[in-house]
Amino acid sequence: PSSYSNKRVVVLGMARSGASIAKLFHQYGAKVTINDMKDRKLCSEADELEQMGIIVICGSHPADLVTSETALLIKNPGIPYSAPPVIAAQQLQIPIITEVEAAYYLSPAPIIGITGSNGKTTTTSLTGLLLKAAGLLPIVAGNIGRPLSEAAHEATVNDWLVAELSSFQLKGTVNFQPHIAVLLNISETHLDYHGSMDDYVTAKSNIFRNQTTTDYAIWNADDPLCNRMIEKSDAKKIPFSLYEQLPYGVYVSPPYKKDAAEPLNTDPSLLEERYIVYREEASDSEIEQEAVQIVKVRDLSIPGKHNVANALAALAIVIATGVKPQQVVAELCQFKGVEHRLEFVREMNGVAYYNDSKATNAVATMMSVSSLPEKVILIAGGLDRGSDYSELLPLMKERVKAVVLLGQTRFKLAEIAKQAGLICIEIVEPDEDVEKVMQQATRKAASLANPGDIVLLSPACASWDMFDSFEQRGSMFKNSTHTL
Ligand code: ADP
Repeated sequence: PSSYSNKRVVVLGMARSGASIAKLFHQYGAKVTINDMKDRKLCSEADELEQMGIIVICGSHPADLVTSETALLIKNPGIPYSAPPVIAAQQLQIPIITEVEAAYYLSPAPIIGITGSNGKTTTTSLTGLLLKAAGLLPIVAGNIGRPLSEAAHEATVNDWLVAELSSFQLKGTVNFQPHIAVLLNISETHLDYHGSMDDYVTAKSNIFRNQTTTDYAIWNADDPLCNRMIEKSDAKKIPFSLYEQLPYGVYVSPPYKKDAAEPLNTDPSLLEERYIVYREEASDSEIEQEAVQIVKVRDLSIPGKHNVANALAALAIVIATGVKPQQVVAELCQFKGVEHRLEFVREMNGVAYYNDSKATNAVATMMSVSSLPEKVILIAGGLDRGSDYSELLPLMKERVKAVVLLGQTRFKLAEIAKQAGLICIEIVEPDEDVEKVMQQATRKAASLANPGDIVLLSPACASWDMFDSFEQRGSMFKNSTHTL
């Protein structure tokens, strides 16, 4: 940022990360303007920024916001590239970066960048806990809460910046080079923003693009798209896999069987004992390294095969930082997951209630449903992003006993449930009082449940058609289980 001292910098978008980066460039002497389409009343940081001497413009994008005098445009990742100020900057060939790129320049600490369609928050939180348990100094930031630039500014060379990165955030990166880059998986989400799968894949592959031979690339070897994206990487490689015995990397042994859901109603003692193992890459002259057992899969507390994948990724990160995986096993086994992600809420009348409000796409819901040991009564539905949800069909057939549907997608999902042959399809009509809607949904689900059943809120959709956030949706669900 010091190279922008006395130069004009425009920050587009006044969310927390925008305010944070505006302050930083201001501190480094840049002439900063921050702009947001939102009404000033909704820009809670406006007054504070203005008092510091930053120009604040709310309510519209003025036509003269970006001019030939502008040296740099820093864009909130959520603002589309079709927004007029972004087009103006492109035409004037003014560099456009995101907060993540700026954070990269600022950070004296090595960056661990974690991305993927699903599992980012879980893996990022777990990584922070494991590194701390090993005596390192992790700072967890990015998409997970605290703006990355703020954390980067505070970090020292002794810290590790553990960054959860969305594809939105990665799309605007140019020189961003995490020391450890992690790609968890890729599924067809967020297509409304990125426009095409190719565009989405390109954004995600930015995480590896600038890495060199001293960096580490960690990826899901079970995902063909991830395998393709790593082909050109020069970094040291640590793949992870649930389904394959890898020549090197972190994997489950014996491997899981592909496409097989966890068996229903199985006595745990009859299940095959699986281990998470690590096999180091053999150097040219060496024969294949021995695989070393790290932990029994059964000893993990987090539910579901998808969470085993997240644990594999976190262990690969630990290994890349130079820590011996055995040092973090106790912490790993204690980790119960993050709120709203397949979170056990309570058991009542023999029925277990799980809150998976963060499942905002079909893949996430499939993962959660297939990892539960019983058939479920599924509460689903939410914002309509244009998907047809047909991917949910096999799962509805095999694993779902009844559905309770709400939100914009309720009829689309009902259609899938019908095709799956479900007889019990309940629809909750919208109401101004969303708490009431959730209570009705939970009550309906509870009335359909017999002892031994599971009621699962896993909407397969974003929450914004009715709720402020997935957190609000999940909390209302949890509260509603207390009103039964
Ligand atoms: P993100 O931050 O990428 O949205 P989270 O860790 O918050 O991911 O998990 C969101 C949801 O995605 C969870 O509720 C779960 O259903 C599903 N999920 C978590 N990890 C994985 C994974 N590795 N693969 C597929 N689905 C996953």
